[in-house]
Amino acid sequence: ATPMSVMVGVGKAAEAGVLIRNGEALQTASKITAMVLDKTGTITLGSPKVTDIVITSDMDETTILKYAATLEAGSEHPLALAIVESAKEKGVENGTLTNFSAIAGHGVEANIEGKRVLFGNEKLMKEQKIALGDHVETAQLLAAEAKTPMYFAVDNQLAAIIAVADPIKSDSIAAIQRLQHNGIRVVMLTGDNRATAKAVAEKVGISDFFAEVLPEDKSKKIQELQMAGEIVGMTGDGINDAPALALANVGFAIGTGTDVAIESADITLMRGSLHGIADAIAVSKATLRNIK
Ligand code: ADP
Ligand code: MG
Repeated sequence: ATPMSVMVGVGKAAEAGVLIRNGEALQTASKITAMVLDKTGTITLGSPKVTDIVITSDMDETTILKYAATLEAGSEHPLALAIVESAKEKGVENGTLTNFSAIAGHGVEANIEGKRVLFGNEKLMKEQKIALGDHVETAQLLAAEAKTPMYFAVDNQLAAIIAVADPIKSDSIAAIQRLQHNGIRVVMLTGDNRATAKAVAEKVGISDFFAEVLPEDKSKKIQELQMAGEIVGMTGDGINDAPALALANVGFAIGTGTDVAIESADITLMRGSLHGIADAIAVSKATLRNIK
């Protein structure tokens, strides 16, 4: 395409809230054969709310929420915000936190008032040798409802399962259908557990998904698709999506996402809507048609 037609295309896209950072991305967009979508914050709103607190110990709910919120105050994960908000709403005060650490793709741990507190997924609990017993079934039931269950352990004992739900953006289903009608293979990628991922994928009409993908492995999935001959688009919002966004043939960042994601992507979807992807592809096609 001529520099002039690219400029026109970039301007057209901008009117639709799609910021294209380089002309090459605009030209490649129409050639995308596979679109990889992150789940949390990309397909979903990224503002999860606490839905269930299932107590599995003799601790009371207030203490559980207090410890959980104290712990999550140290994390920037969307799941952490849900916990902190829930505690705030219920007027639960924070305790004091020491030795905090976040374990990417797993959860968080710290010491609170002399107790060792762990919060995260099954992988984290298994690695820390916390016995889950048949509470795994409770977690699976919650996950089948498209909720994300997290295990909460205090001094090596499972104390509660806390579930959060993150609503699907109102136009995600339609936007995904639009891509599929364009002949694009849509793939969902998430660090979340398999059962939750399956429930969300089904709701939005995606049959191709990878769950429990560690942050460092997200870009490997992009590479695998490229090796299989796909021209890969990737859309994400998180720090953990940044390497995948950079590696994809065209990276799309959600405008409300993290700065790192936006800097790693070629295109920013200012409205946060996945319709921006098909809009960018349409502008790309029109731009290439103009030069002929
Ligand atoms: P996603 O791809 O959905 O953004 P992540 O790789 O960030 O997922 O996290 C994967 C899983 O690790 C989460 O679904 C959750 O179970 C657990 N996890 C990560 N961070 C936290 C946290 N701050 N608190 C509790 N659990 C967490
Ligand atoms: Mg995300």
